[in-house]
Amino acid sequence: MRIDILTLFPEMFASVLNSSIVKRAADPALHAERAAAAPASPEDAAASGISGSSANPATPSGLPGPSGPPVSYHLVDIRDYTTNKHHKVDRPPFGGGPGMVIQCQPVWDAVMAAEAQDPRPATRVLMTPQGRRLDQAAVAALATKPRVLIIAGHYEGIDERVIEKLAPIEEVSIGDYVLSGGELPAMVLVDAMVRLIPGVLGDETSAHHDSFSGGAKGLLDHPHYTKPREWMGMSVPEVLLSGDHAKIAKWREEQARERTMKRRPDLLG
Ligand code: SAM
Repeated sequence: MRIDILTLFPEMFASVLNSSIVKRAADPALHAERAAAAPASPEDAAASGISGSSANPATPSGLPGPSGPPVSYHLVDIRDYTTNKHHKVDRPPFGGGPGMVIQCQPVWDAVMAAEAQDPRPATRVLMTPQGRRLDQAAVAALATKPRVLIIAGHYEGIDERVIEKLAPIEEVSIGDYVLSGGELPAMVLVDAMVRLIPGVLGDETSAHHDSFSGGAKGLLDHPHYTKPREWMGMSVPEVLLSGDHAKIAKWREEQARERTMKRRPDLLG
């Protein structure tokens, strides 16, 4: 999957894209075995990693080959597409009122330039508190796309006309609260998506059994325990030490159902 992120603050993404599972998703080393089986072309090798104005400039084309990592990130600074001397992207709203509005032209030009870099059609996503509330089903649907282009707004938002012109575009909210910008929501979406892409998580951390997922039957996950067996006078449930896999599976399912009933009865349908 190719992920393009259009933002006015590309520097905000450095730590997230360079840490943990999100980094691993674009790490060529993770896929060394696949590369050994089918040696990468120089283009494939160049396509791995992160590109963009504030990130590792490793990937000009964004076309991961069969031996490349499953994900490539491409940060686009919307400000690079301004046509005025001072690289201003925002103007006061028509009709008056507080705040500033991001203009159509730099957003449109940034999207067109990003999309021209790769022939795969991009699923366009705008992060906005007014969008459809993100859930695991929506994340799973997006995670199957070959290419997702995410636009992070800022200030009062983006001029409505460019949003209309970019249709079809999925408007996505991460919850009923307002953040200063779409950067954190974009990072939330990227993390949630890439961990569902085959090969990104190791087997032992499979997302299939996480809360809301198929393996958990859409319920909350069961509780987890690890060493030591006793901690501050509290013991691990006996069944988990029994070695009886059928019993353990049954206990976990009961626990998942019970805590879903208590905490999120809406999930039980
Ligand atoms: N005036 C807008 C409104 O009331 O709907 C809020 C603008 S907000 C201060 C600036 C930007 O942050 C938005 O354009 C959007 O990209 C992002 N944003 C803020 N809250 C968000 C949320 N809950 N989900 C997704 N994006 C959000």
